Amino acid sequence: MSAARIDTAVIIAVGSELLTPHRVDTNSLFLTGRLNELAIEVHRKVVVGDDRDRLAQELDRGLADADLVVLIGGLGPTDDDLTRDALAAAVGAPLVERREIVESIRERFAARRLAMPEINRRQALVPRGAEILANPRGTAPGLWLAWQDRVVVALPGPPRELEPMVDGLVRARLAARVAGHRLARRIVVVGGRAESYVEERVQPVYARWRERTPVVAATILAGPGQIELHLSTRAPEPPEAEAALDLAVADVEAALGRDVYSTAGESLEQVVGERLRQREWRLAVAESCTGGLVASRLTDVPGSSAFLDLAVVAYANTAKTDQLGVAPALLETHGAVSEPVALAMASGVAARATAQVGLGVTGIAGPSGGTEAKPVGTVCIAVTGQAGERARTFAFRGERTFVKRQASQAALDMLRRMLDDRG
Ligand code: AMP
Ligand code: MG
Repeated sequence: MSAARIDTAVIIAVGSELLTPHRVDTNSLFLTGRLNELAIEVHRKVVVGDDRDRLAQELDRGLADADLVVLIGGLGPTDDDLTRDALAAAVGAPLVERREIVESIRERFAARRLAMPEINRRQALVPRGAEILANPRGTAPGLWLAWQDRVVVALPGPPRELEPMVDGLVRARLAARVAGHRLARRIVVVGGRAESYVEERVQPVYARWRERTPVVAATILAGPGQIELHLSTRAPEPPEAEAALDLAVADVEAALGRDVYSTAGESLEQVVGERLRQREWRLAVAESCTGGLVASRLTDVPGSSAFLDLAVVAYANTAKTDQLGVAPALLETHGAVSEPVALAMASGVAARATAQVGLGVTGIAGPSGGTEAKPVGTVCIAVTGQAGERARTFAFRGERTFVKRQASQAALDMLRRMLDDRG
């Protein structure tokens, strides 16, 4: 039998609890990852409550425009578990009781020295023609139903039941239907640039990708202090997909140069750590408004003791003077949030350690403390060391924790750029 190829999928998560603020649909993330590995693209996900009509509507819609529809949840024994009924109605098949399911549920209860409640019989009702997917961890079996040239898979909601069923049963069945295509992804991360700046430079590159075989698709995502480009492609063989992405990444690097800091999933702090290690330089950090966030991120990197020497959080002016040797006159003349003070913090902390590189961060995270000249979000960052010194004043927006995050990102990015200089 040569069944039609599966390229696209729709996921329908069923459950009224998923429409409240208390529960979130995590199964579809897991499932999307597994489907993408098989080169199956998810083009819609929906969450519907336990409502027969709405579920039927979504099923019809899914069957109309996807090769595969995955239903999650609603396979329990109670009245609000409607997935079986809706599926039977959608494909016009009657529900029939399957003895082997009744028996396996009865055995599950017997193993716990319990009698099977009569309502569990409902779980043995299956649309005619459906194949049963065994669920070793629960009473609700899954279903696989080939209908016309589509496939519908129904899986139980609890992640601990669904996940082994996907990996143990569903994956192999789908793999036989995807003709060996592979979907490959790559994330390129850009530091220190605005989304529009990045978009402007990569637009001409995207246009070229659309003409290539295989086509490379891209989406742009803005985060605090960084822009991510998510690239994906689909090819018959994995090496072909990877080669297409290698080319695409090279195009992005040519368009954006040193603004690109990561092409293989490395975090900015990992990149900074790696650069310091390569040069055999050690770093000392003095932070005010970021309260140790830069040091915290750097110490997230395994083996950070190889490059981080000392980190000081100096909040008060007296602390900046006593702990870092910032001259009181400098604080008076320029104010605590100023480039000269950031520079003095950086060189001061480096001098108190055995560090070739110093970093100083001072700013106003808000919500109070801003002035007309230095509004909330003003952050001065300085890097000093053997590769020279530089200082910059940033104007970040947003609330306190967001300002801190952006400042830590900018500080790490300044470090990275300085470490890239001269070699
Ligand atoms: P059900 O199979 O509908 O009886 O769902 C049983 C339980 O599984 C629910 O109460 C949720 O805790 C969990 N669950 C259902 N659907 C999802 C989902 N899409 N993502 C994560 N958990 C889910
Ligand atoms: Mg439910």
